[in-house]
Amino acid sequence: MQQRLRPVNSPMGPGLLKTFVLALALLAPISSHAESGNDPDAPIAIAVHGGAGTIKREDLDALGEARFREKLAEAARAGHDILKQGGSSLDAVQAAVLVLEDSPLFNAGKGSVFNADGVNELDAAIMDGATRNAGAVAGLKQIRNPILAARAVMEQSPHVLLIGEGAEIFARQQGIATVDPGYFYTERRWQQLEKARRKEKSQAAADRAPVDQLFSTVGAVALDRAGNLAAATSTGGRTNKRYGRVGDVPIVGAGTYASNDSCAVSATGHGEYFIRSVVAFDICALMQYRGHTLDQATEEVVMKKLVEFGGDGGVIAVDPKGNVAMRFNTRGMYRASIDVDGNVTVGIY
Ligand code: ASP
Repeated sequence: MQQRLRPVNSPMGPGLLKTFVLALALLAPISSHAESGNDPDAPIAIAVHGGAGTIKREDLDALGEARFREKLAEAARAGHDILKQGGSSLDAVQAAVLVLEDSPLFNAGKGSVFNADGVNELDAAIMDGATRNAGAVAGLKQIRNPILAARAVMEQSPHVLLIGEGAEIFARQQGIATVDPGYFYTERRWQQLEKARRKEKSQAAADRAPVDQLFSTVGAVALDRAGNLAAATSTGGRTNKRYGRVGDVPIVGAGTYASNDSCAVSATGHGEYFIRSVVAFDICALMQYRGHTLDQATEEVVMKKLVEFGGDGGVIAVDPKGNVAMRFNTRGMYRASIDVDGNVTVGIY
């Protein structure tokens, strides 16, 4: 037998109840409006990087420097335009990274470095701070924009990290654009490989670490109007890498991490150190468990812990209030940001 619902005894009189119901009805559209990311007063912010390392003014002529600055600003604007229209932080970081992947200036997508076999092997990751869903790919050879493959892994598969041939098959099945491997070729990166090979031949095994290192991986972090954070990172890895080496970029928590509870981080630097230090997660954990500000957490991890450990590089990060940190322990880091007040910052050194 079905139980009949009894009328609820309300402590409010009928008039007050009516007013209460009316108020709820009026409030409902406002809160769903905010959730959809259309509250024009909610803060938005974005930061992008194009790698950290030994960036010397004398190596970048005025024209070269201007090209880097323009591209970084273009990437930040591409993401910011999406955020301004109430779009998601995920779409914003993806848009920013696409701009940098398509530019030959950076070590991601077109312009990626070569491995020891003279081949480009690309890694990428993306993470959604609202759900802590993440997608990553490693060792791609023919996917034009690895960040799209990472996003597809996150949204269209039950997995987090796909590698090599399997990742390529999956990306193709998702209709993601492929290219002939020659697409990734740039003379500058080929010369870097030749230089690394010469150096390797002339040095003793124990003395192989290059002194002047430039990590020009790309990445983006963003906060959208709905209060959601996201991070994305993409790279060709390291010049002359071997044996299927994978760095920190597609390792969730190392080179890429996002959680609405703390912050979103995208890293660039000597991947092996960033993996062993779990850099991106460590920054978020310091905020969540120790109550550090974004500034304190990035300072502690990048300028203290990583330095003591011997890990060169930097990070960009954003927190739920829209605070942005761009921290590096190298001579420079290609970077740009648009803060909650719309201020655009572009920096190299
Ligand atoms: N972190 C990247 C890697 O080790 C390199 C970079 O930042 O450029 O693969």
